[in-house]
Amino acid sequence: MVRTPARQSARSLLSQVASQGRTQRLYIHVPFCFHKCHYCDFYSLVDTRDRQPAFVRRLTDELAALGPLAGPLKSIFVGGGTPSLLAPHLWRDLLRALDERFDLGLIRAGVGEFTVECNPETVTRELLDVFAQGGVNRVSVGAQSFNPAHLKTLERWHDPANVGRAIEMAREAGIRRQSVDLIFAIPGQTLDEWQADLSLALALQTEHISAYALTYEPGTAMAARLARGEFPKADEDIEADMFEATLARLRQAGLDRYEVSNFSKPGAECQHNLGYWRQEAWLAAGPAASGHVGGARWKNIPRLDDYLDHHDAGFAPVMDVELPDPRRALVERLMTGLRLREGVDAQPVVEGAEGLNPGAGKRLLARVAKLKSEGLLETGNALAEGGGTIAATGERWSLTDRGFLVADGIVRGLVGVLGF
Ligand code: SF4
Repeated sequence: MVRTPARQSARSLLSQVASQGRTQRLYIHVPFCFHKCHYCDFYSLVDTRDRQPAFVRRLTDELAALGPLAGPLKSIFVGGGTPSLLAPHLWRDLLRALDERFDLGLIRAGVGEFTVECNPETVTRELLDVFAQGGVNRVSVGAQSFNPAHLKTLERWHDPANVGRAIEMAREAGIRRQSVDLIFAIPGQTLDEWQADLSLALALQTEHISAYALTYEPGTAMAARLARGEFPKADEDIEADMFEATLARLRQAGLDRYEVSNFSKPGAECQHNLGYWRQEAWLAAGPAASGHVGGARWKNIPRLDDYLDHHDAGFAPVMDVELPDPRRALVERLMTGLRLREGVDAQPVVEGAEGLNPGAGKRLLARVAKLKSEGLLETGNALAEGGGTIAATGERWSLTDRGFLVADGIVRGLVGVLGF
């Protein structure tokens, strides 16, 4: 991995890697929440409304700097934090800046996707009307659970009834695509309770549902409470049962899995996130936003004060910069591609591995053959090896339903045989 010094400006980095007018995806991070949920490790601050105007002014400057690097946008994703916490008049300013600085033609035509993450407690009809006028065509509503006791365990503050209300208001405002986020394997949650959450989510008839197993990220309140023995982690067998129940219930309702934790009706996949998993390029704006262009990765500095105070012709200070590196790119292609139902294109992975570390391609093929014999991975065409070269023409590798249950271990094993 090639890392540069800790702090630099996105301007110097992007001048090295970004071709003008080529990047077609944009992520924007809004760092405000009204309360910190105990499981959350995203960058957000519990903030009153006093710093929102300065944030939007600064973000507008950053968007002006990034605009010339972007082509017609295929997708915008505004995440956080709680983007729906920004006041409607500030959202108007932000949407105007996007319209002025970027080509939103694909989005306005309904071909492109513009998602905003919403907390059910903070959306209003006024805000959704502002979204719709500004081109937003998809909302992702954080439900997590419909069970008040489990929401309490997560320290997630909203009334479950407001999830349906938010979805309904989005429809009335003309935002035609909606997704709901759920969490399972919450301490104390039973399989029946999870099934009830799935039923309530399905009753909302959204085209997309994300269902994540609860994780205990270091530094979160949830991890500290676990360490203090406040509750036990969900039993592994129950978690696996919940994972399988999720697939069965959602598939039965016409929402199939297209990524480990994401389910949609045909054609309703989140295009922005698919772009991440397919290793496409995206620009990033806002504190803690991560970007990927020209094989380089970086993160905007995750402190609101630094973000507000430091300008370089509009660009933000960045950290965790990783310059283009074929080995990292190959590992990432395997790691993110195997998260997807469509899997990874085998040929460039095998040839790339062999080129970077002779023997690695053969080891990869052997491991894939073993996983296939165990029913954990499926391939398209037969694997071919001969004449001293390895070919896997037209073949894709993808995990089976059983493979998805142990996806992390499979990917770790495949990355391990690369020997990088
Ligand atoms: S609302 Fe979302 S971003 Fe904010 S603290 Fe909760 S989980 Fe984290």
